[in-house]
Amino acid sequence: MSDCIFCKIAAKKIPSSIVYEDDIAVAFKDLEPQAPVHILIIPKKHIKSLNDTTAADKEIVAHITVDIIPKLAEDYNIAADGFRVVINTGVQGGQTVNHLHFHLIGGRSMQWPPG
Ligand code: AMP
Ligand code: ZN
Repeated sequence: MSDCIFCKIAAKKIPSSIVYEDDIAVAFKDLEPQAPVHILIIPKKHIKSLNDTTAADKEIVAHITVDIIPKLAEDYNIAADGFRVVINTGVQGGQTVNHLHFHLIGGRSMQWPPG
């Protein structure tokens, strides 16, 4: 999608701090980190939200959650102490960028419930 900021990041049309990339996904540092580690992982394919996935997207979501997130957690030394993964979805879910993204947040203790 030409007007999607995360598609532009995936296509390197706008700058970002990319920390991981493969054929399926890109991971980059959040511009406004909420913790010492705050990385966004996105599919290269434009999927609007978790509520807009189809059966064809199962491998993408599994790749991000099973392969990429644990690897990044190891790389950034937050695997042992624990971390949080957040997928804000839709208006009430607090989603502000309409391209599916996984927040990987760690390096400090988290609170619950979320605000
Ligand atoms: P959400 O509220 O779940 O949609 O999260 C969107 C996230 O994208 C926020 O944490 C923003 O700080 C982050 N963000 C927005 N624009 C950029 C950008 N150009 N580069 C990196 N992170 C961004
Ligand atoms: Zn997009």
